[in-house]
Amino acid sequence: MKKTCNSIKNCNEEKKLVFEKRGYKIFECKKCDHRFTEINDAENHVAIIYGDQYFFEGKAGYPNYLNEKDILYNYGIAYSKIISKYASPGHVLDIGCAAGFILKGFKDSGWKGSGIEPNETMASYGKKQLNLNITTGNLETFESSEKFDLINVIQVIGHFYDLDKAILKISYLLKDDGLVLVESWDMKSSVARLFGKNWHEYSPPSVVQWFSDKTLEDIFEFYGFKLISKGYPPKKINIEHALSLIEEKIFRFPFKKKLFRFSIKLLGKYNLNYPPLDLKWYLFRKVQ
Ligand SMILES: [Zn+2]
Repeated sequence: MKKTCNSIKNCNEEKKLVFEKRGYKIFECKKCDHRFTEINDAENHVAIIYGDQYFFEGKAGYPNYLNEKDILYNYGIAYSKIISKYASPGHVLDIGCAAGFILKGFKDSGWKGSGIEPNETMASYGKKQLNLNITTGNLETFESSEKFDLINVIQVIGHFYDLDKAILKISYLLKDDGLVLVESWDMKSSVARLFGKNWHEYSPPSVVQWFSDKTLEDIFEFYGFKLISKGYPPKKINIEHALSLIEEKIFRFPFKKKLFRFSIKLLGKYNLNYPPLDLKWYLFRKVQ
């Protein structure tokens, strides 16, 4: 076991303050390098952050999530191809599945699919429009009589406020040799280092945990998983979403608002290849 702290939440090791962002102190554990911030209202965290504004008003979330459906659907297809090297299709659970476009990609690749989504608008869209089995709620309260072959944790891990509990629950929900697909932003990537505290993923209180290859692999190993593969995702991003992220996160300059509004109007409907320098996927197998 490489991860030396017994718990992320109840760890008594010394923490150093890395910096402050939007009034939130971001700490790093001196022993295991895990980065996190503390939020006050953990109970209501999920409901407050993932209201409809997260999916429809841009900024840290999406300008209009539903515009990304083709990208996300193809993304699900691409990921299921990657997974097929390690397992044949079974039952997949997608945590934080939103409207379920990625899940639909898995389903159309032969998987039986289930999803969990805290946002009611997203969950009911997936249920009604895509005929998917989505439970409105969060991982903590999710119950299932069936164990899963694969659990997708796609751009979700940084949002868990109790990481230990979340990983234990994931392990509990998996079959004995089940797989977890994690997609996570790499805080040690060159992009993250270049932008420093202005890196887009430092966006508390929506994101509360940050990972590198090492810290992510260590914590999963600690909870009985083995890394079997990793790579850069086949990600495309909608230009409107990209510009919205950039507008929010990057430096101010004169006429910024005007320029961005013009660009969004002009280019918003196109998709571009997201330079996959700070986003990675990791496939873990449950071994104990
Ligand atoms: Zn630690």
